[in-house]
Amino acid sequence: MRVFMSLMLAVLLGLVAQTSVAQEPSFNDWLVELRQEASQKGISQATLDATLIGLEPIPRVIELDRRQPEFTWTFRDYMTKLVNDVRIKKGKRKLAENKKLLNEIGQKYGIQPRYLVAFWGLETDFGRLAKGYFPTIAALATLAHDGRRSAFFRAQLLAALKIIDEGHISPARMKGSWAGAMGHFQFIPTTFQAYAQDYDGDGKKDIWGNQADAYASAANFLTKSKWKDGETWGREVKLPANFDFNLSTKKIKKSLSKWQSLGIRRLDGRNLPTVDIKASVITPAGAKGPAFLVYGNFRTIMVWNQSIFYAIAVGHLADRFVGLPRLSSLGPKGDKGLTHEEGRALQERLAALGFDPGGTDGVVGPKSREAIRNFQRKAGLVPDGYPSPELLARVKKGL
Ligand code: CA
Repeated sequence: MRVFMSLMLAVLLGLVAQTSVAQEPSFNDWLVELRQEASQKGISQATLDATLIGLEPIPRVIELDRRQPEFTWTFRDYMTKLVNDVRIKKGKRKLAENKKLLNEIGQKYGIQPRYLVAFWGLETDFGRLAKGYFPTIAALATLAHDGRRSAFFRAQLLAALKIIDEGHISPARMKGSWAGAMGHFQFIPTTFQAYAQDYDGDGKKDIWGNQADAYASAANFLTKSKWKDGETWGREVKLPANFDFNLSTKKIKKSLSKWQSLGIRRLDGRNLPTVDIKASVITPAGAKGPAFLVYGNFRTIMVWNQSIFYAIAVGHLADRFVGLPRLSSLGPKGDKGLTHEEGRALQERLAALGFDPGGTDGVVGPKSREAIRNFQRKAGLVPDGYPSPELLARVKKGL
């Protein structure tokens, strides 16, 4: 019955939201209603007083949420910014400094320490930014009250209140990113609820200030997301000259022996390892950039963050910590990322030609890349799905 009632309520609220877009409730009216729901969910009055009384929205958070990136980063932009010599050097030092704890936690959860440190480096520059800047409750309340993604942020806000209510962190110390990611590994509140650990046993899951809790929380997330500690993430490989780029997609998995028979070799020309493992070929900078064979752990990294660039950055950073070589290439040097307007123009033109880009928001995601591939096939081009100014110019010409 309760379920039925709350579904009814959700439907009613949804209807209200749809028919009165111009008249969202004021922040304070909204807060009164939010407090009621939090209270019904069992969050104590003391916590609600401490967190919600006098709470005000943060205009800067709305600004950041509305911000459109000027242009899309290329693989080269991304890797240069995130996996550079400074970060590699710092990561090696952090691995050494925290060796005992990382080995202990790595063994307990089944995660090689170099990967934990790679995530740590990418998320908060190895903890330098772990304490956060924006007060989480105010940031999430701002976004939950705002209409754009209110259901998602409302759930995060209620989870954040629960975390405070359970005593893991004080309201003053609960800080994070403008969108509610918190602590050394930037967990959003629902991720905290599902995976955070109290490794040192003091009763608090302190992902902000306690390195052991933070490492264990990240390790727990990864192990529950099917990380295999006997495997790496993948490797850069050499494709044969006649490689069929239709096969270069995360959707296609083949055994290493099958890829070997299709002519793929290690970068130095040697045969692929003879282990029984499924892999996909990906070419994040298009046919002219580096190619990778990626394994199950790569997919686990993408559970953490669904960007292919991010997943390669984690894997490659971890490799560099243990002395493996840099990539052979980051893609063509003169390559520019599409501007937002160019991305939109590309999507509109693809749609007009009958290739569904999954929307015309200017963000060239997986669906748009698939549309590019389909266009490239029809146009007799190499079907690598890679968006570039040249490709846009070609699409504008039509088939
Ligand atoms: Ca603890």
